[in-house]
Amino acid sequence: MKNKNIYWVKFKSNELKSYIDDKTVVVIAVGSCEQHGFHLPLETDTTIGYRLIEEAALLAKEKVLILPPIWVGYSPHHMDFCGSITLRQATFSNFVLDICVSLDAHKIKNILIINSHGGNVGILRTVVDELGASHNIYPILVTYYNYFSEIIQKAQRSQKGGMGHAGELETSLQLYLSPDLVDTENLMGGIIEAKKYFQPGMFTNKRIHQYRPFSHYSDIGVIGEPRAALKSTGKELFQIMVQEFSYLFDDIANGLAN
Ligand SMILES: [Zn+2]
Repeated sequence: MKNKNIYWVKFKSNELKSYIDDKTVVVIAVGSCEQHGFHLPLETDTTIGYRLIEEAALLAKEKVLILPPIWVGYSPHHMDFCGSITLRQATFSNFVLDICVSLDAHKIKNILIINSHGGNVGILRTVVDELGASHNIYPILVTYYNYFSEIIQKAQRSQKGGMGHAGELETSLQLYLSPDLVDTENLMGGIIEAKKYFQPGMFTNKRIHQYRPFSHYSDIGVIGEPRAALKSTGKELFQIMVQEFSYLFDDIANGLAN
């Protein structure tokens, strides 16, 4: 299975044409380039999403092809911190939309977008809606930490609000995926206090939506508790997510996700 070709861009055009069929699933990981505190690299979201789809595509039984990851997303709320790069909403939205329209031009019916950054969620939903409403193209959109919210919360060691941004979840995953890039000497946390209508973080109370730059909440850019992170948690979660995504990919190929 390991020598299965899953990389769209490594095919020659004529080979790809004869390889793809109505069932082929094409997966796009959409990440970001943004600060993740003093302990995780800017590429964190992109790494997590791309490594998940890469391993899941290798494991899937059906034909699954992955595109190179979209390494930059919508991150204006991180721009107060050095290194963050953001696209404007229209640029990001058009970028993803044009990729899907191009895949459709090559008769790819099954497009799956795996998102790993909170700031992308609203725009990606709109893109998917627009593709369906105006282009008769029907991608499936998944944000990984919502898809696996139950499994992730079961593994949680920190208090509510601890998973967050550069918190327990991302730090655990990166301790497993990119241990050399995690600065374990610099783990500083910040669970932001829950208020009546809103608590910043992952799996927290968000009865209202509001926009605030990250610097409003944190001087170091962390919302969550990275000190609760464990490599073993990262490994366990990653392996479950890969397995589950491989089932999702196969189900999409077999028309079971319509
Ligand atoms: Zn992140």
